[in-house]
Amino acid sequence: MHEISVLQKAVDLAEQTAIDNNISRISCLTLEVGELSGYVPVFFHKYFPVATENKPVFEGAELNIISVPGEALCRECSAMYNVMRNEGKCPKCGSRSKKILGGQQFRVLEIGVAEPG
Ligand SMILES: [Zn+2]
Repeated sequence: MHEISVLQKAVDLAEQTAIDNNISRISCLTLEVGELSGYVPVFFHKYFPVATENKPVFEGAELNIISVPGEALCRECSAMYNVMRNEGKCPKCGSRSKKILGGQQFRVLEIGVAEPG
């Protein structure tokens, strides 16, 4: 389960960002997870309470996952297609030679701040 270590890093980064900006409460953490990143979003939801344990800044915080489709451009026929849905093969010509256009990322997209009071 490599999701937990990468999630812990994202949580630590968000916590540090909050401290640096005098933010006392984070209301939500939004992660952008590409379909081709190898990470399974359901595990992030599962581990979020563990990763944020003993971090008061995350009390009541929500985790949002934005899934980014894995898109590729076929090097043979220039068709654009979804890598996951087509099992890595171009649906037009069957070639596996491709340029990945997106969907490999994992990043913290947004740190939501709770209004004071
Ligand atoms: Zn093709």
